[in-house]
Amino acid sequence: MTNIFPALDSPEFEQGFARVVERVNALAQLFDEHHVQRNPDATTDAATVRAFDAVLNAYSATLDDVYMLAAYIQAFVTTDSRDTLAQAKFSALQLQLVTLSKLGTRFTAWLGSLDVDALVAQSENARAHEYALHRAKIEAAHQMSPVEEELAAELNLSGGSAWSRLHGNVSSQIMVEVELDGETKTLPMSAVRNLAYDAKRAVRERAHHAELAAWEKHAVPLAAALNSIKGQMNTLATRRNWESALDEAIFDAAIDRATLDAMLTAARESFPAFRRYLRAKAHALGLAQLAWYDIFAPLGENTRVWEYDDARDFILTNFGTYSEKMQGLARRAFDANWIDAEPRVGKRDGAFCMRVRADESRVLSNYKPAYGGVSTLAHALGHAYHNLVLAPRTAVQRSTPMTLAETASIFCETVVRQAALQEANAPERLAILENSLQGSCQIVVDITSRFLFESRVFDGRRARELSVQEFCAWRHGRRGGARRAFRFRHS
Ligand SMILES: [Zn+2]
Repeated sequence: MTNIFPALDSPEFEQGFARVVERVNALAQLFDEHHVQRNPDATTDAATVRAFDAVLNAYSATLDDVYMLAAYIQAFVTTDSRDTLAQAKFSALQLQLVTLSKLGTRFTAWLGSLDVDALVAQSENARAHEYALHRAKIEAAHQMSPVEEELAAELNLSGGSAWSRLHGNVSSQIMVEVELDGETKTLPMSAVRNLAYDAKRAVRERAHHAELAAWEKHAVPLAAALNSIKGQMNTLATRRNWESALDEAIFDAAIDRATLDAMLTAARESFPAFRRYLRAKAHALGLAQLAWYDIFAPLGENTRVWEYDDARDFILTNFGTYSEKMQGLARRAFDANWIDAEPRVGKRDGAFCMRVRADESRVLSNYKPAYGGVSTLAHALGHAYHNLVLAPRTAVQRSTPMTLAETASIFCETVVRQAALQEANAPERLAILENSLQGSCQIVVDITSRFLFESRVFDGRRARELSVQEFCAWRHGRRGGARRAFRFRHS
């Protein structure tokens, strides 16, 4: 991170922070000058077009500045949630994010008052942002009054976003006691979750039970976080005249109900194939049936150990089979230390890639020396490549819904998998194919179950707060939860 600012406590960072505050204030002033707000009497004349161009350019540039600062601080928070200085800086930045979010809401409200087609006809800039403008028009129709939107944005700091921070921080600081090789060890949750991939069934089983016991100890704050996040989303969706929080989420994802239903139906229709796969895996492991902790068990013996350096070389070589540009990006990511690779105490679980500025990204992973680790790294670098390709676009154009966001990442994962399959011997090939099926099983089966869980939670949370027991029961799909959720979805 040092090529951006030398350190979080450096004068350069302080200056960078002050500059962002200035820019946000200047943007607010520009909004006031041009009366950027809901205005039913607005006309879309030449003066409006000039104002639109000025406002859009300033808004995009400010978003870039704020995002860079946010990404810089997030890099510290996500790799060490105990970094109290980073937490403090992020909290301070959130005030600016709130101001910016309120300005974004005003911008949307203003666009809702304008004739977007007339704007597009008169401005090159508007034409380049036509898609976002038409979406803004729909969003504006779902806004509460300006005062209510402003209050909602301010209260979100101590509401939804505070709860989601608590959720992230509690989850990443949980330590788990697990017995390994005859002695009790205390490991971070991310390390214990990685034991789900261990070849020894006894290790997987012990880790699984230890993990469940550890989560249970924190059930009360985590349930409180879930209740509050879902409760706030329900309240706001209703006040904004969305039929449900799901409808708002569907709009955010830039799809519609028919698309969602088609995806869920396709997922459900493929379940028999996944059952066949899971039964075959049980058979290959010499088991009558898979337990939950067997789902990630490695298949095949003597499979290749992928040290981090091997993963780097393999990714570089194979990204090169597609293009020099993609290979160059990956090389830059490794050489410039964009990747925080190994699991550590206080570090967030899983993997992600975030854009920092222009064509630069950072990757967080919890690398383990197996093919899955290589695949995850290739996936994350795919996001970084997408960011590189998006670099010439404005912040408003760059915003990508989930349905598009995974294209480059899955492409990169696929390039690497095909290459790995080619040079693998039989047991390795089995392991790689199994890893691929495992991934699809997560996307299709696990995500479906999460969708059912979420639907049930949102539905139940409309009436009242939910208990730890209810969350747990619905997670396991008891009480006919799945069927009810589907009925709700079709109603
Ligand atoms: Zn991804």
